[in-house]
Amino acid sequence: MAFDSWALKRKNSSMSARILDGKAIANTLRMETAQGVEALFSRTGVRPQLAAVLVGDDAASQVYVRNKEIACEKAGIASRVIRLPVSTSLDDLLRLLDELNGDSSVHGILVQLPLPGHLDTQQVLDRISPRKDVDAFSPENVGLLSQGRARFYPCTPHGVLQLLDRCGIEIAGKEVVVVGRSEIVGKPLVSMCLQKAGPRGSGNANATVTCCHSQTSDIAAVTLRADILFVAIGKPQWLQGEMVKPGAVVVDIGINRLGDRLVGDVDFESVSQVASAITPVPGGVGPLTIAMLLHNTLHAAELTS
Ligand code: NDP
Repeated sequence: MAFDSWALKRKNSSMSARILDGKAIANTLRMETAQGVEALFSRTGVRPQLAAVLVGDDAASQVYVRNKEIACEKAGIASRVIRLPVSTSLDDLLRLLDELNGDSSVHGILVQLPLPGHLDTQQVLDRISPRKDVDAFSPENVGLLSQGRARFYPCTPHGVLQLLDRCGIEIAGKEVVVVGRSEIVGKPLVSMCLQKAGPRGSGNANATVTCCHSQTSDIAAVTLRADILFVAIGKPQWLQGEMVKPGAVVVDIGINRLGDRLVGDVDFESVSQVASAITPVPGGVGPLTIAMLLHNTLHAAELTS
């Protein structure tokens, strides 16, 4: 659509988007998980445990791991954080993962990324038992997801679909566009939207899905078709209002630091004038990712108890 025509539509519609409150939904999800944890404990005496492995002293990773630890505590999930020096060898890290895989008191394992450059991330992640792979990164869990029989849903895409459904927004039959094709966000989100059933039923799946990436030509022509538009590319305020169909739902998955503030991949100001609903950054998708990690840890414990 030419910019003039977009501007005219915008003027005529004078829309201001509904803000989708990810923080509130994440709190509800965390409360549900806490109830599930207590129910499992009173039924079986088993308390779910998450083991987080942190290699090196990357400041952001330390904060993420600490936040996960606190979130576990609040949900009644036991957590173990194993901090290793930056010089840790691949053999030592793989040996630790083998020990955690064999420890029946540990139900979920995560390795905080990024790893120091000398460690092969794929080899490390592949060593986590698929039954304890609460990030759902392993080839087995990715395969199960793509066949529509997921063991664990990957945390960020799962959080996003929970958010939409709990806000009363169905994706079934809608034109969904996902911008970004990473293994942890874009691709699994595409896969989930394509399924016949989602985490919250058939309305939470069955979309017509298009995925864009850095090699897509005329990306705005594709984003303008979207009824539901997900953006996960790691480029601050990249999506502009003129790239959005009036009335679309826009989910901003990006988290970028711009000076001293956090911004998403969506230019909130221009897009919120066009969209019917939008997630803010912060307070949108971010809090949902940890909530779904807790959910998966409970689920992992339920699978073996
Ligand atoms: P990656 O860097 O792994 O992938 C980025 C993707 O975006 C790639 O597929 C890339 O295409 C595509 N891309 C990059 N630039 C453009 C462009 N100009 N136009 C179209 N596509 C483009 O990122 P992640 O998926 O890991 O993360 C994306 C964002 O989401 C980041 O801001 C990250 O911080 C955030 N994030 C937020 C989470 C949350 O909890 N809210 C969780 C995880 C991530 P190509 O493949 O062709 O290179």
